[in-house]
Amino acid sequence: MTQAESYDMIVVGAGISGLSLANHIARSGKKVLVVDAANKIGGCLNTCYKDDFWVEMGAHTFYATYTNLIDLIQKNGLEQDILAREKVGMKVFTDKHEKIMKGVNKFELMRSVPNLFFTKRDGKTVKEYFGKIVGPKNYDKVFTRMFSAVIVQNADNFSAEYFLKRRKTKSKKHPKSFILKKGMSSFMEALAAHQNIKVQLHTKINQLAKNSDGFKVLAESGEIYQSKDIALAVSPKIASKLIKGLNTDLSDVLAAYPIQSIETRTVVLPKEKLNFDPVSFIIPLQGSCFSMVTRDVMTHEKMRGFAFHFEENQISKDEQEKFMKDLLLVDSLGAETVETKHQLPLIKTGHSKSLSKIKLLAEETGIYITGNYFNGLSLEDCVERSKQEFERYAENCK
Ligand SMILES: Cc1cc2nc3c(=O)[nH]c(=O)nc-3n(C[C@H](O)[C@H](O)[C@H](O)COP(=O)(O)OP(=O)(O)OC[C@H]3O[C@@H](n4cnc5c(N)ncnc54)[C@H](O)[C@@H]3O)c2cc1C
Repeated sequence: MTQAESYDMIVVGAGISGLSLANHIARSGKKVLVVDAANKIGGCLNTCYKDDFWVEMGAHTFYATYTNLIDLIQKNGLEQDILAREKVGMKVFTDKHEKIMKGVNKFELMRSVPNLFFTKRDGKTVKEYFGKIVGPKNYDKVFTRMFSAVIVQNADNFSAEYFLKRRKTKSKKHPKSFILKKGMSSFMEALAAHQNIKVQLHTKINQLAKNSDGFKVLAESGEIYQSKDIALAVSPKIASKLIKGLNTDLSDVLAAYPIQSIETRTVVLPKEKLNFDPVSFIIPLQGSCFSMVTRDVMTHEKMRGFAFHFEENQISKDEQEKFMKDLLLVDSLGAETVETKHQLPLIKTGHSKSLSKIKLLAEETGIYITGNYFNGLSLEDCVERSKQEFERYAENCK
């Protein structure tokens, strides 16, 4: 075991939640160590680069309503890299590419939509709330798949309050939906590049302990890190494990969030091999693939790229490849696929109550905690939560 240098703050997890928190703290003049188990930073922001081409394997779109995130893009010098997404349509896939509204019963939809004005989201699941608005048959046939594609997991039991949240603020200066010229990972690199931040990869944290100087952070490798303060920016399941020795009540609340693991397979192909028009997403109406997201929103002279998001362990690798070929309308993939995994929490009804408990118990334990299971799953929700934790930290430092 070795004793490493001391920091003001150690952030566990170098996804957008961890890096946005670290960036705020570093800007306030404190020294931050960010540790991550993976071999690259970014977590679910995960760009796959191939020569001068890239395709997103994780998150792919920012919106003008993401005002906290835009603020960080600006502060970290990436404003000039913002690019409006090219307007290409969406399709659904049955055994062929079909129009997005294929299978939707227009009569049931027209009859149900007025419920929008009389139905409240509070306490309802996505299925209960949206089933009323699009009609139960439409929901089961088509919309359950569309909504599951949005949150890359079965949407039926997700809390309606935390799904496709309406936001009060919107930047008038930015495109309605946009990307970054060099991919999402360039944003993660920019956040991590602050001189007060040190990032350590391949560092899986297994345990936390308190001592008279603050916190001891123990890595699987046997390395020990010491800091005055600690922030967890990992999934609730991992946070639950790490916090167990410090606060069992907090550990129990965090353990109650189910996690969806997603296997993503990405393929880049020469344009001439493909025989269908540019499209932003294709949503399969059956099977274990939640969605196929393309790079067609930023045209490249020669290549096109596709990320298929599969529910983990549902079908074999060969079956996944067959599905990919069927959907891409090709006989062979003709290239190696790049594989990666991401995890997302299921936010259930009653989340607001659990959230109050988590916040209270985290304060009692003297730790900071952020992630995509506080304000919601979106990148803006993560950044907003991290900003709130930074403000609490800054207040405590006074
Ligand atoms: C396929 C996909 C597409 C998406 N598309 C969009 C989109 O277009 N727009 C949008 O707003 N949102 C999107 N989302 C949601 C959004 O990307 C995520 O909710 C968000 O990026 C999560 O960030 P995070 O930092 O909280 O967690 P993560 O990104 O999961 O980061 C957690 C980090 O913790 C690390 N870690 C885990 N355990 C340990 C340990 N023991 N020790 C050290 N490190 C550890 C992991 O390696 C990881 O890097 C998408 C998500 C997915 C999966």
